[in-house]
Amino acid sequence: MPIFEYHCDDCTAEFEVLQRASDTNTHPRCPKCGALNPTKRFSAFATAGTQKETLSDNAT
Ligand SMILES: [Zn+2]
Repeated sequence: MPIFEYHCDDCTAEFEVLQRASDTNTHPRCPKCGALNPTKRFSAFATAGTQKETLSDNAT
């Protein structure tokens, strides 16, 4: 299950949220101040997969 990292513009809190692929349209609530519109930074899970695929293409 991918982990999404969010940054809250209201209180500058950073937090991670586990989300299913089908839940990407739902915005999590900041656990610190309760703001409903945090900024998604990146998914460590997806980034790792992309890098692996790139390496495989170069090797072939
Ligand atoms: Zn916040």
